[in-house]
Amino acid sequence: SDGPAAFPLAFRTTPSTAAKADAEREAILADPGFGKHFTDHMVEIIWTIADGWHDAAVVPYGPISLDPAASVLHYAQEIFEGLKAYRHADGSVWTFRPDMNALRLQRSAVRLALPQLPEEYFLESLRQLLAVDASWVPSAPETSLYLRPFMIASESFLGVRAAHKVDYRLIASPAGAYFHGGVTPVSIWLSTEYARAGRGGTGAAKTGGNYASSLLAQEDAYKQGCQQVLFLDSSEGKYLEELGGMNIFLVRHDGTLVTPSINGSILEGITRDSIIQLAKDRGHAVEERPIAIDEWRDGWASGEIVEAFACGTAAVVTPIAALKSKDFTIGDASTPAGEFTISIRQELTDIQYGRKPDHHDWMVRL
Ligand code: PMP
Repeated sequence: SDGPAAFPLAFRTTPSTAAKADAEREAILADPGFGKHFTDHMVEIIWTIADGWHDAAVVPYGPISLDPAASVLHYAQEIFEGLKAYRHADGSVWTFRPDMNALRLQRSAVRLALPQLPEEYFLESLRQLLAVDASWVPSAPETSLYLRPFMIASESFLGVRAAHKVDYRLIASPAGAYFHGGVTPVSIWLSTEYARAGRGGTGAAKTGGNYASSLLAQEDAYKQGCQQVLFLDSSEGKYLEELGGMNIFLVRHDGTLVTPSINGSILEGITRDSIIQLAKDRGHAVEERPIAIDEWRDGWASGEIVEAFACGTAAVVTPIAALKSKDFTIGDASTPAGEFTISIRQELTDIQYGRKPDHHDWMVRL
């Protein structure tokens, strides 16, 4: 049970006494990088099996105190989300499809035996944080404030079962332009040794363990001169799944988009879903189905497959120049970004930054 959920949840706010001075914040926003700097405040909401969700608060950003026996530290009962706040030309601040992140957090919660945070609490946590930290949303082109909601099992108990005390938190980190000087195609390493997820596993949930298990394969990618790793299905080692933190698309000669179906072991990306919609709006056919690695290799060789790209909140759309594996290479590092890849990236960022009409009502003002 999620316990009683009182609406509306009253947030208590404790302003930070150590908030960065304007000049210091502006210096950070001028070159934020990614995930290195954090805003002055964070949100927390506590859940207990007895009282449900309660004690919602905006508090100064800072270390959290956890008992060494907190179950998240031992059994990884943890989930998270990632979305961005964008500043539009008129100064207003918006998020992109935050309802989808709220629902995905709920689906992840079910899989990890965590309580589901009501969608309205999730959205209110974003509004509450932005109410105090809006000055942290940068305004330079392609910059944003990355929002990281997460939930951890905080009960002090070494037994292996779903925790009876859970903390939801929201932190935020200014993010610079992902690509300086234009979008740069990346090379990808095909991991044939390690899998990310298996049938009945947690691949479809956004949970820390999936990322922990991807790190060794990511290290292999770096050793091979690649920036990202692509995983195959774990049973046959034959079908494309996704990258460590992005979904993947192939584009056929006739403009058809092909992407692995939501099969229970890949993350249901919100960028993926949005690209499928925008491509259909343009009249492209979209196929969501299993894609064998041989289909990509043979299709690339014959000219049937002309583009490949990865997508996700952080980098939006990333062109794939080459796929490298132990046995073969598709493309090479000098392959330029494809026409569709470039234009869909432009269309999506135009919507997110308020430069083009938002026909699907995806943007939500904070
Ligand atoms: N796959 C994985 C494993 C991811 O971590 C992410 C990033 N959340 C994605 C795909 C892309 O999802 P989204 O478009 O919602 O950011």
